[in-house]
Amino acid sequence: MNITDLTVHELQEKLKNKELTVTEITEAYCNRIEEKEKDIDSFNTTYLDEARNQAKEIQEKINNGEIIGDYAGIPIGIKDNICVKGTRTTCSSKMLENFIAPYSATVAEKLNAENIITLGKTNMDEFAMGTSTENSAFKITKNPWDLTRVPGGSSGGSAAAVAANLVPWALGSDTGGSIRQPASLCGIVGLKPTYGLVSRYGLIAYASSLDQIGVLTKDVRDSAKLLTLIAGKDEKDSTSEDKGNINYEDCLKNDVKGLKIALPKEFFGEGLDKEVKDKLYEAAEIYKKLGAEVEEISVDIEKYVLATYYIIADAEASSNLGRFDGIRYGHRTNEYSNIEEIFKKSRSEGFGDEVKRRIIFGTYVLSSGYYDAYYKKAQKLRTYISNEFNKAFEKYDIILMPTSPTTAFKIGEKSGDPMQLYLADIDTVSVNVAGLPGISIPCGVDSKGLPVGMQLIGNKFQEETILNAAYTFEQEYKFREKYKPQAINKSKILI
Ligand code: GLN
Repeated sequence: MNITDLTVHELQEKLKNKELTVTEITEAYCNRIEEKEKDIDSFNTTYLDEARNQAKEIQEKINNGEIIGDYAGIPIGIKDNICVKGTRTTCSSKMLENFIAPYSATVAEKLNAENIITLGKTNMDEFAMGTSTENSAFKITKNPWDLTRVPGGSSGGSAAAVAANLVPWALGSDTGGSIRQPASLCGIVGLKPTYGLVSRYGLIAYASSLDQIGVLTKDVRDSAKLLTLIAGKDEKDSTSEDKGNINYEDCLKNDVKGLKIALPKEFFGEGLDKEVKDKLYEAAEIYKKLGAEVEEISVDIEKYVLATYYIIADAEASSNLGRFDGIRYGHRTNEYSNIEEIFKKSRSEGFGDEVKRRIIFGTYVLSSGYYDAYYKKAQKLRTYISNEFNKAFEKYDIILMPTSPTTAFKIGEKSGDPMQLYLADIDTVSVNVAGLPGISIPCGVDSKGLPVGMQLIGNKFQEETILNAAYTFEQEYKFREKYKPQAINKSKILI
């Protein structure tokens, strides 16, 4: 048995049957990280010694009958923009290179309460701005399916770590696709919950009206499990909502008979890679065979979504990142003669190019004289986009569309041209603009052997509908049994 190949629910089974111990599981992951992390570069910081010690303590408690939680001793990776008390939390930025979080995000508290073990903080695009993880100030994470390609972004470290079996699952954040898109490019499952379902307290903000913490897992059951653990109203986040205690595993029925699925034709047109399109149509046929009703519809938003998203996201970012000035938060320059210079030099040294570009752009669209022309118009379009989705959900349960217009691209292929990278977000951003839940699951590989992702979007708080649809497809298609990321398994060191 290869321990690191197992899903969390499989690990739980083996723990329950006493086929495995917590120490064995942690040891297997720590060893795998020690062997493979240098090929993938998915972590900014690892906590392997701490993890090994924690595992021993948990195992002792289990042996003494003290802990009975189902998740005690399960390891996890956490994106480096989520505060975990005592850990370095850098947002992959020089600005926060030495920041040790003095408190934990609510999601991290919840995992801690279950005795889940944090193995490390995962690499990302700086302040979650990007689509390839190439914007990290520290390292470029590699795609485990092909080490010369990007893992997607901005939660690229989390996605690559899960795909390479360095962690069984991970947390990420998704402002415009940063969970779904890297999940798609790395051949795993990525779920972005409805805005408000999961507390954002302790998530370092990029664009507060779009940001959402979510999960990256090997399969849909694990997604449902991790969502169950982190969802819920939090007094510390006034935008979080109380939906009661839902166990999302209960909705996994393996049945989509009568489910109404819409394919928005605008997202299947120009710009979509032919092989990706073919895989999605094949997936739609599988849904039909399983008893779902699939129809092509028009959701006329495609031409507006990127402009709307980038205006709103950058406007909010320019405001959120104002606090990193070398005084209140973040890197402080060494030499300065007055306070103005502290601000200027600290921010110039601390932020990377993409972050600066967005702060400048965001400041511009909010400035007097341009506010009405850009920001206000974007807000109107936001309402229009939501309304278009609402219309679709009057008749359909789910929208099926690509997660990404292409499979994983080469490292360096788009990094010189920000517009090319923004275009790669075309399929994911509207979900955040409208506050909807979306999941990406693998639905095949292209002729290069790279995974293709399918995105299922639901109406607000309809996580159960998309999880069940994703699960039903997964049970039929069996992606994980058919395909494995060969590059990492073949890479230099053998397991
Ligand atoms: N790629 C998008 C951006 O750069 C989305 C990022 C995200 O979801 N954090 O804004």
